[in-house]
This record gives sequence, C-alpha cells and structure tokens, in this order.
Amino acid sequence: MDRVGRDRVKAAIQQAQQRARSEQIAPQDVLAHAVAAVADLTVPTALHEILNATGVVLHTNAGRASLAAPARQALAVAAGYVDVELDLTTGRRSGRGRATLDALRAVVPTATDVLAVNNGAAALVLATTTLAAGSEVVVSRGEMVEIGDGFRLPDLIESTGARLREVGTTNRTKLADYADAVGPGTGAILKVHPSNFRVEGFTSAVGVAELAGLGVPVIADVGSGLLHPHPLLPDEPDVTTALADGAGIVTASGDKLLGGPQAGLIFGTTDLVQRLRRHPLARAVRLDKLTHAALEATLTHGHGPTGARPGLPTWDALTVRPEDLRTRSDGLAAELGRQGIECEVVPSAGAVGGGGAPGLELPGWAVALPEDTASALRLQTPAVLARVSAGRTLVDLRCVPPEREPDLARSVVAAVKGG
Ligand SMILES: *Cc1c(COP(=O)(O)O)cnc(C)c1O
Repeated sequence: MDRVGRDRVKAAIQQAQQRARSEQIAPQDVLAHAVAAVADLTVPTALHEILNATGVVLHTNAGRASLAAPARQALAVAAGYVDVELDLTTGRRSGRGRATLDALRAVVPTATDVLAVNNGAAALVLATTTLAAGSEVVVSRGEMVEIGDGFRLPDLIESTGARLREVGTTNRTKLADYADAVGPGTGAILKVHPSNFRVEGFTSAVGVAELAGLGVPVIADVGSGLLHPHPLLPDEPDVTTALADGAGIVTASGDKLLGGPQAGLIFGTTDLVQRLRRHPLARAVRLDKLTHAALEATLTHGHGPTGARPGLPTWDALTVRPEDLRTRSDGLAAELGRQGIECEVVPSAGAVGGGGAPGLELPGWAVALPEDTASALRLQTPAVLARVSAGRTLVDLRCVPPEREPDLARSVVAAVKGG
C-alpha cells in the first residue's frame, strides 16, 4: 500500500465493487480483482514516480512536462495494437499518425503543413539536413547555444553535413551581417531562441520578419513549443508569430510549454515541410505510436486555437495563483504541525525551467524544512523532489497536483521521522 498510495488502493477496490454491482464479476471475486489491480500498479520498473516539489515546472531531470489525464489514457490505449497507420473504414494503410497531424494543424491553423518527429533536436537536424546539407547555414554568434548536457547547437548542425556560417558577435548581430553572408552557397538562415540564458546590456538581434526578406528559407527554432503569444511569458517566442513573420520552417519541442510528450514539432510552408517529410532521415526520426497517441490527446484536450486549457499540468502549474499556493502551503504546514513537525511557510519563486523563459520568476510560497530533509524525501514512496535554498529544504506545491498532497504529506512525515 505504501508503494501504491492509499487513494489508488481505494480506487481499485471501488472499481472492483462497481464491476460486481454491474454483474461483470461475481461478488466473491471482488477482493481477488482488487488485489490484481493493485498488483498491476506495483509492476516493477526502474523509474520511480516523483512528486515535483521544486517549483520548477519543466524540470529536465524529472522528465520535463507531466502529461494531462487524456494523454495518459491515450498512452494506455496505444500500448496495444492501434490504427496508427490504418484506415478502419477501408481496411487500407493510411498516413501514419494522421490524427496527430490534424490536431497540430487545428492548434496552429496558419501553418500550411506540419510534421512531428522524435524531439526538438531531431526536428532541427531534419530541417538543416534537408535544406542545407552540403551548403551553408547562417547563424548569429549570439545564438550558438548549448542545449544542455553538453549538446551544442553548432556541433549538431555540422553533424548534418551543413557548414555553419557564423555572423555578428555574441551580444550584437545586425541585418547587414546576415545580408553580407547570404549568397549562392546559402541553404538556410537559422534563428535559434537562446532559451536557457539571457544576454543583457548592449545587445541587438535580428527578428525573423527581417531575415525572411533575404531570399533564403528561414528556420526558426522557437524551442519551448509555445503555440501563440502569452502574456505570462512576454519574451518567449511562439510558433504562430514566427510563421506570420515569414519563417519557412518553425521547430519546437513537445514536452516543454506545450505540456505534451517528448516530440519535435515542425510547422511550415507546404513545399518545405514536404521536402522534410520525403527526406530519408525522416524515417529515422519518426514518432512511435505511444507519442502519437499522447501528443494528439494533449493537443486535442489540452489546447484550443487560443491557448492552453485548464487541466494541462504544465499550464496549471504556470498559472496557479500565489494566494492559492499560500493557502495550500498553510494547509500542508498545519498538517505537518499536527504530526509534531516544525516548519514554516515562506515566499518562494517558481521557474519555468527546461529551457523556457530564463530568468522569469513565478511568485509563490513553499513550506521550509531543515536542509537535510531533501535527501530523505527523495528516498520515499512516492519520491519527493524538493529545492534546497539558503540552508533550507523548500517544499513548493506549484507542480504538485492538489489530489496528491496527502501522499506528499505522508512522504514528508516519513522523511522527517526517519521512516
Ligand atoms: C530544448 C531546445 C532544443 C532541443 O529540443 P529537445 O526536444 O530537447 O530535443 C532545441 N532548441 C531550443 C531553442 C531549445 O530550447
């Protein structure tokens, strides 16, 4: 029971009782069915569930976005045989993951064609290989970013056989720098969002709209998968604006601000996306059926053409009101107090994380515990990932679903009392 959590055990029992009431199973089999359902929940896997109490919404080491309920259900369906490449009406083969691509078109209607691949890096590699292998890709020196874990964009681009043509300086690049570099040997201009750092002071960069006038295709890597401008993230580039500004190809990740599974999203003009789709590399970076299912469900149930809907964990965590976090933190502190644990509710700033909106602070609150609590919290079931700051362990409820607070409280009690 500790491993699975009280709520899920209760749900398994209630489900078995319900099945008995609707005469799907015999009354004497209720217990056996409930036990089997709980056993299914304890299938051994090397991955441990984490309650993310860091306040960092897209925590890279915790797998970035947490999926919405419809996406989780879609994953379970896709685990078996599914019509990922089959038209059930005719019985004939169909385009792979057609529903996913339709859903992508629906959320960004201005994209004339779309494609989805394995991750953001694959989208970029496919675009660069197709448009610029054997020729030059023009990039600003201010955008030669390291994505993380040692992966550097220049290395990624050169691995495709394209030659990198660097222009401008780290802090300033002008339209003339690009214009001077563009010529018959240019395959594409690449505009990369520096998504994990900020350059401040004497800076200048050239927008997609100006680059689009230079007569070669512009690839815009917006990074986070923000589909439309959002007032909460004023400096974060979005897919719709990049397309409106004239980018031929826009690439983004599925598991950042989109709140979906790991995927690389490609939006663009029909001729360019069609070239990407036909390139042999497209087959090597294609999406598996599980990702098709989860991505389609995220787009259909989590996003309208005007933005993200409530119930998408990423956006719920980004938009939770500070006063609600205060109330929830007070509730947790009171519960811990009843168990004899000393703690304090303190202001705590959350972050977008995962390569999005660097430097943006999301105001909120956290429950402060002694510093050494963090390591014990990681070893509980469910594991709790907290943030250590200024000699304290901060438990921030921003990214913890409210219905999991009882589980979190139990893990904190066990961690503090040495359980
Ligand atoms: C995150 C990011 C990538 C890499 O995307 P993955 O989905 O992690 O492969 C590439 N470019 C930018 C600007 C990013 O923010």
